[in-house]
Amino acid sequence: MAKKEEGQKKTGAKKKKEVKKEEAVKSFVSHYHPKGRTKVIEAVKLYREFDLSKNNVVKVVQGVSFDVFSGEFVMLHGPSGCGKSTLLNIIAGLETVDKGKMKIRGKDLAKMNSDQMAEFRRTKIGIVFQSFNLLKSLTNQENVALPLIADGEPRNKALKRGGNLLRMLGLGKHMEKVPTELSGGQQQRVAIARSLAKNPWIILADEPTGNLDSKSTEEVMDIFVTLNRKSKRTVVMVTHNPEHLKYADRIIMLKDGVAVGEKRNVRKIKEKEVEGFNTKRMAISAQ
Ligand code: ADP
Ligand code: MG
Repeated sequence: MAKKEEGQKKTGAKKKKEVKKEEAVKSFVSHYHPKGRTKVIEAVKLYREFDLSKNNVVKVVQGVSFDVFSGEFVMLHGPSGCGKSTLLNIIAGLETVDKGKMKIRGKDLAKMNSDQMAEFRRTKIGIVFQSFNLLKSLTNQENVALPLIADGEPRNKALKRGGNLLRMLGLGKHMEKVPTELSGGQQQRVAIARSLAKNPWIILADEPTGNLDSKSTEEVMDIFVTLNRKSKRTVVMVTHNPEHLKYADRIIMLKDGVAVGEKRNVRKIKEKEVEGFNTKRMAISAQ
């Protein structure tokens, strides 16, 4: 009898351990907090699912928590379909959550009204997508100036800043051209310039080199590193490509909508001199 009880206890203990192990994987939370850095992004137990049809629900984000601190270059990394873009869209306020909180500089995005949210998206974050998303009928300069013009900036002033940003990214000669006259790498640089138009706190990038050849990929990654180091921008990038991880200060690994761990790099990549890059041009206020 006693033996049987002992046996039962053991099985019970084993079961508990297994459950704990599973929970530990599911709820990976980093305790990293670099000294003197402010918390810019605070994701707390985020959940997001999509109803594809009746009885077909995809659980895309399942209890993900992470922080991003000022001046960090953080990558969200994992295989295709693991929820990276959904998470980035949640940070950008383009996607809502079912459960959990997304706070930017302490402000809960869910508590913003639609005007505050629109202003947040226009002014506090810059987004760069894989497919550039430039307007083909506008010149490159107009594309970069567009967020400012849309925000009520006088056209001349907006174009001037657009020109400065393009020069900063080495595209001074291409301002009057339309995007399709440029290579993919150059178009992505125009999109990066546009993301900087309002001098945002945070730059978000979703697989920004996904459509580029290896040379342009390196150039674009160098620009993000330079923006992060020289202009102290906080950068959050989504990538499935392990070759990009060396550029980040910190990598948050995702799998099936769950954060499974993090990795820290000790600044493996030094910033390079990006053609024409000038922090003064960057700092020119959009106002
Ligand atoms: P990743 O960027 O890591 O490839 P996503 O965040 O784009 O992953 O998508 C994760 C999963 O969620 C995919 O299976 C995708 O089909 C699904 N998904 C994303 N957005 C939606 C949506 N708006 N409606 C339905 N399913 C979606
Ligand atoms: Mg994606």
